[in-house]
Amino acid sequence: MTGSSWFDSQTILDGIRRWVEIETPTEAPEQVNKLVSVVAEQYGDLPVTLERIAGVDGCGDHLVARTNWGQDQPGILVLSHLDTVHPIGFIERLPFKVEGDVAFGPGIYDMKGGAYIAHHAFRALCATGDRSPLGITHLFTSDEEIGSPTSRALIEQEGRKAKYVLVTEPARDGGKIVTGRKGVGRFRVFIKGVPAHAGSRPEDGRSAVRELGNVILALEGMNDLARGVTVNVGVVRGGTRPNVTPEEAYAEVDLRVVSLKDADEFVGKILGLRSKTDGVTVTVTGELNRPPYEKSNAGASLYEHAKALAGEIGFELLDTHTGGGSDGNFTAPFTATLDGLGVDGKGAHTHYEQLFVSSLAPRARLLHRLYQTLR
Ligand SMILES: [Zn+2]
Repeated sequence: MTGSSWFDSQTILDGIRRWVEIETPTEAPEQVNKLVSVVAEQYGDLPVTLERIAGVDGCGDHLVARTNWGQDQPGILVLSHLDTVHPIGFIERLPFKVEGDVAFGPGIYDMKGGAYIAHHAFRALCATGDRSPLGITHLFTSDEEIGSPTSRALIEQEGRKAKYVLVTEPARDGGKIVTGRKGVGRFRVFIKGVPAHAGSRPEDGRSAVRELGNVILALEGMNDLARGVTVNVGVVRGGTRPNVTPEEAYAEVDLRVVSLKDADEFVGKILGLRSKTDGVTVTVTGELNRPPYEKSNAGASLYEHAKALAGEIGFELLDTHTGGGSDGNFTAPFTATLDGLGVDGKGAHTHYEQLFVSSLAPRARLLHRLYQTLR
């Protein structure tokens, strides 16, 4: 292929299709590993050293591809995840298909499209015999969609070694990249009451579900959109039968915050929730899973550099903050990190997940130019 045909959108889309058609729910490690094998094979003719790290705790393997140059100094870390939220068989509901400028498929936007274009841009770089000024390490992980429990340490370790981190999460509305992300906390609330026959001995009972009502109102009352704090009680369970005073109730809670100061305050408030009812206990577990990040000085100049490159390619790169967490949260506190460098589209995690075909070539070119120019 000649220089420009590398960035032909049909060629890129064919490559993405192959990755999309191997379904990779986080919870199906054998499926994730099938894709890991395909990706590893596709690096077979490229000048990299591959390291495949066996999956643990029910997750799939992680794959690290390190250039055979530049590894003796801080380089570029590219972060991609190969897992998706979609269960096996979802591809029958959302098969790969192209309609005009839109290509559909499970995980095509979040983030197989982005993971693939970063790989493709690297292949394009190597094809001309060019060597980037900095070494490039591309890390493919298997568990981002459940909070990266088995990859976090690896991401932090590689992130600390790197000078720049490029995250191939999807672009935000209008192709924006992400220079700030909210921190994410996850909590579980366990409520224990006293069971009773709800009809004949109601006075003996202490309802855990009633207390759950208090807990929900307290948590939802912490929302402060102006401050960027969101608290969502997303899952609740409780009780056994209509005629039994419920002994147990349960909730799962998601917290998002903009600053570390807010993180401390709201994590404290949530963990400090207490029962308002005698005889009922409320126990909360959980923590801040991903720290928030704001555009640091190093991150700001990396952004300006990417913006200038995008201008040369012919598109305007804007930045935004998002409430969504990503693996970029793990590296941004100590290394210049740009996130949202993947494909443009919409419908992450839904039955209409899609990418915009017209975003493939310019965004693959941008990654290619970042490899060529970061130093
Ligand atoms: Zn993602």
